[in-house]
Amino acid sequence: MDTFNLLEEKQAILSAIIASTDDTIVSKSLEGIITSWNPAAENMFGYTAEEAIGKHISLIIPDDRLEEENFIIGQIKSGKKVDHFETVRQSKSGILIPISVTVSPIIDSRGNIIGASKIARDISEQKRSVERKATLAAIVNTSDDAIISKTLDGIITSWNRSATKIFGYDEGEAVGKHISLIIPPDRIQEESFIIGEIKKGNKVDHFQTFRRTKIGELIPISLSVSPIEDDNGNIIGASKIARDISGDHATQKEKADLYEQLKDLNAKKDEFIALASHELKTPLTSIHGYMQILSQRVTDEKNKMFVQKTKKQVAKLSALVADLLDVSKIEAGKLQFSNEALAIREVVEDAIDLISHSNEGYEISLHTDLNEQLIYGDAHRIEQVMINLLTNAIRYAPGQHKIEVYLSRESDFIKIGVKDHGVGIAPDKLNDIFSRFYRVDDKNPQISGLGIGLYLCYEIVMRHQGKIWAESKLNQGSTFWFTLPC
Ligand code: ADP
Repeated sequence: MDTFNLLEEKQAILSAIIASTDDTIVSKSLEGIITSWNPAAENMFGYTAEEAIGKHISLIIPDDRLEEENFIIGQIKSGKKVDHFETVRQSKSGILIPISVTVSPIIDSRGNIIGASKIARDISEQKRSVERKATLAAIVNTSDDAIISKTLDGIITSWNRSATKIFGYDEGEAVGKHISLIIPPDRIQEESFIIGEIKKGNKVDHFQTFRRTKIGELIPISLSVSPIEDDNGNIIGASKIARDISGDHATQKEKADLYEQLKDLNAKKDEFIALASHELKTPLTSIHGYMQILSQRVTDEKNKMFVQKTKKQVAKLSALVADLLDVSKIEAGKLQFSNEALAIREVVEDAIDLISHSNEGYEISLHTDLNEQLIYGDAHRIEQVMINLLTNAIRYAPGQHKIEVYLSRESDFIKIGVKDHGVGIAPDKLNDIFSRFYRVDDKNPQISGLGIGLYLCYEIVMRHQGKIWAESKLNQGSTFWFTLPC
């Protein structure tokens, strides 16, 4: 083979290599005009060889990096190579590609530098991986949890800042040591269990235990341990995240203490209500007695009316005090109930009579077809429920004078309803009104009360194994229902 053929063959091999390599290979003149452009360059930058060849190399240089070209060409002109120069180039669609480029002078047969060849490699993945590692390292280092990795033999391979903070050993002291460094001797068998799980590919989650610090202090921690796999999926170690939960213990203790204090205060409040209502009851009873005597002695009409009014107010006050006393009895678990056969219609009628009598001008109608129905319970307490509901039906319906009472039997219970045409109750308050001291104040600031009437009704009905609830719409009246087993 002659020299010419040899040369031609070499040329062909070179061309084949350039055409098939994954690296981008581009050559350009000293003026920067592109003279060759391999398929990998097409791939990387999106321009075909036809589009690129003959154009200035600035075709792929982002505007803010144009001066790099002067530096590179300067190096080339002085016969120097530019090695692994990390920069950014721009593709046809405008995407910026981080690359590592090596530029070498092209020398003709007479030894003159006539251009440059560039080999570029896309380093986005490499960059991403470096960034990912940096992000992970930042997360590990800023975490409040101790993050530790170890081999399957228990040798510590990494140790973050929080591990130092929690356990007291710094990275240099811990890495290379066995994990038993921080395990209390009586818990050493936990490690075999954890490693056993890890070897099976399982995670150990929120394992609460104790570990030992450098100064020998035991701290409660919650451990989560996960297997570490190599690229082939083999388990080669474990990463553990340890959270110091001594803070949680402290908070729990604080909460428990607060709860105790609250219980104490609540008990004191109940005690006070009991005492106050008891102390109020005694003078009220004497006032009531003296009022009785006065009403018999006073003869002139005007004074009679004053005495009458005073008696009415005393009765109201007595009812309030009696309710308060009941509340404190409920709290102390001392509210007594009798359990006798009672004619429910009679009890309902008695309550209606009583309320009608003391509230002139009201029309309270009873709708029922029950006559002789007997049930078991405390007649006095059931009447108290009726009186409370009827009183509310009057108080919360200013200007309205009609109240309907329903009494019926439904399978094995009695159902009683008290319906008014008053202010009504918003749907979101319907469940709260039976709570102790709860009042829907904002709606009826002019109607005073203690918020215990319905609470007492609830307790009495519950103690009879019944149910109580309200149906209502704002400004359209309310119906209070309760049931009692037959
Ligand atoms: P009090 O009437 O003393 O506030 P209750 O326990 O009897 O206490 O009632 C609790 C709350 O329920 C009342 O403050 C009132 O807002 C509401 N309520 C009770 N009955 C009615 C009713 N018939 N119509 C509208 N609201 C009512």
